[in-house]
Amino acid sequence: MILFSAVFALAVVVFLAVSLRAKRRRERYFAAPFPQEWEKILLRNVPAYAILPNTLREKYHRRIKEFLSEKTFEACGGLKSVSDEMALTIAGHASLLSVNRSGTAWSSLHSVLVYPRAFAAPGEESETEGGLVARERGTRDGESWTHGSVVFSWQRIARDIALHGNGQNVVIHEFAHQLDSDDGITGGCPAFSELSDVRAWQNIAARELERLRSGDAGTILDEYGAENPAEFFAVSVEAFFEQPIETKRAHPEIYALLSRLFSLDPATWEDERTPNVPI
Ligand SMILES: [Zn+2]
Repeated sequence: MILFSAVFALAVVVFLAVSLRAKRRRERYFAAPFPQEWEKILLRNVPAYAILPNTLREKYHRRIKEFLSEKTFEACGGLKSVSDEMALTIAGHASLLSVNRSGTAWSSLHSVLVYPRAFAAPGEESETEGGLVARERGTRDGESWTHGSVVFSWQRIARDIALHGNGQNVVIHEFAHQLDSDDGITGGCPAFSELSDVRAWQNIAARELERLRSGDAGTILDEYGAENPAEFFAVSVEAFFEQPIETKRAHPEIYALLSRLFSLDPATWEDERTPNVPI
């Protein structure tokens, strides 16, 4: 009995020592300055980073560190490894959505799978039973799963960066689906904090979806959003971050609701640009 007690006490001591060490390592990780090399990559691959208001920069850096330390990146389809640049680029785009939202970001997400180019997913598409919520644009450049994974083609991510401003961004698109799935239903209506905003989104999105389906020349949203309410929400979020000024002008109600959802006003970011941004 004495031996058992001693072993148990030793195990507790070892456990506490390991936990304390991990806690200190985590504190050092978050307290350390944001690496300059990371800033250079973000400036190159996340265009919004250059115009992000100074008041958001510290939060944004922390969101990125959280993402990189908590999520697993897996290379797929012949990709040798997920490079630091790839991981940071994906974390950088995803963190635009979470930077000014309260609470833990992407808590149900565990892994990010990266293919070198468009990929073929096995089997037939299943809407909800297998957790698959989207296969994108027939080419499978991105997927969002409700059971903790997102999947990307790096070639598509690189293309979206090169064509920045055209309203398309596969990382933002798939993370919009992740946000939409937070309440367990990927129905195109995310968890707004105010019930009045939920109702407003349902009404306005239904009307704008019909407008998109009718081919209205006044809409700037990607026609892929006409597929269903979930895709409409995802392409609206893409436009909100990729073409904020145009979205605010062409779809003011959509912009206002997304602005409340993300607690962000990206249409003003160009005006707030300061000389403190490293170039
Ligand atoms: Zn989608």
